Amino acid sequence: MECVFCKIVNGEIPCKKIYEDDNVLVFLDINPYSLGHTLIIPKKHVLDFETIDEELLMNILKVAKNISKLVCDKLGADGYKLIQNNGLAQEVKHFHLHIIPVYNDEKKMSIDEVYKKITE
Ligand code: AMP
Repeated sequence: MECVFCKIVNGEIPCKKIYEDDNVLVFLDINPYSLGHTLIIPKKHVLDFETIDEELLMNILKVAKNISKLVCDKLGADGYKLIQNNGLAQEVKHFHLHIIPVYNDEKKMSIDEVYKKITE
């Protein structure tokens, strides 16, 4: 299995996990656009927006509502973007929704510090 996100789900590759349930896993992006850049993925391998089933998509959106608030509250973000890439725009071919916090005045912090702030 070559899919990096399936490897994360299976525990073959570590991640900074923020939340999981039976269907969904949430973790920090390894190469963040901003402090607290977070990815939400389905645990089962699904390619993209076109092929994901609606029930799973709704699960992901429900989790996105809660996690975007959690991440932004914990880090003091002033807003956030939700982004979901497909086709040529999509680097990892396993559906994922980005939560990208936006700041008036973004601080410098390591991923470990960000993770501690979110999970403490
Ligand atoms: P996209 O262009 O929407 O496919 O974005 C893929 C995202 O996955 C990028 O923001 C990468 O930094 C992120 N990414 C790739 N590998 C990992 C990993 N092992 N752990 C966390 N995030 C990753």
